[in-house]
Amino acid sequence: MQKWKRGDITLFQSELYETNSLVVESAGHVLVVDPCWLPSEVEEIRQYVSGILGGRQLLLLFTHSDFDHIIGYGAFQEAEVIASKAFADKTLEEREAILEEIRTFDDRYYLKRPYEITYPDVDYIMELDGQTMVFGELQLTGYAASGHTNDGLFTVVDSPRLFIAGDYLSDVEFPYIYDSSAAYEATLGKVEQVIAQQPVPLLVPGHGAAAESLPDIGRRREAGLNYIRSLRTAVAAGDQDAVDKLIAGCAYPRNMRQFHRSNQELIERELGGTGG
Ligand SMILES: [Zn+2]
Repeated sequence: MQKWKRGDITLFQSELYETNSLVVESAGHVLVVDPCWLPSEVEEIRQYVSGILGGRQLLLLFTHSDFDHIIGYGAFQEAEVIASKAFADKTLEEREAILEEIRTFDDRYYLKRPYEITYPDVDYIMELDGQTMVFGELQLTGYAASGHTNDGLFTVVDSPRLFIAGDYLSDVEFPYIYDSSAAYEATLGKVEQVIAQQPVPLLVPGHGAAAESLPDIGRRREAGLNYIRSLRTAVAAGDQDAVDKLIAGCAYPRNMRQFHRSNQELIERELGGTGG
């Protein structure tokens, strides 16, 4: 599943939903991001990390708490964990619901994992926008990124330069809005602020291909904003044709239609309409 390695950054991509996992190396630390999904895929990442770790400290970063992104946690229990404050603040009930999604997925496909399914214990909490954490030569700057979920995190790695976006700015998915469309827009708005602080031309989203330039990042941001605004306008006008047309030509229509439908229902609720 290893997709590419560029210097100190190695990208692994799951066969499921083009989900990305990352391994970032620095002199004293190895940072693993969202190791996922299938047992053999998690094992491949784990073995890769064991092979390169040497005496370095292992760090694990979670971009958000969706079950597909934390599913590999148990295979890296010796790592110290970095995540957002909202991720760390999940209640026991919320954590259990996420873990139950993992168990349901594994039961559906008869999957066994050689590790325990647990919710990550966060050691380092990214709390403030622009907050910096320094681990030797590895410097991470975090920004809260809500809208998809309420606990997303943008992380900019200083060296090697990399923008870890979580489930935003994908080239394969339109915005999947589980939290709030206004928050999602604000998060996309924040991208400019992040780039202005640190013009990082390589961005890895949770799903799909990396963005390789600032214009590419800008195009993805605009596409996301256009989708949300157009969907809101079409929903407000009750124009189902216009709603349907918004995802014409999407990559995996039989599945993606459901996410589009859920977005429509969320925006109907936000607008105080009849969506439920
Ligand atoms: Zn995801």
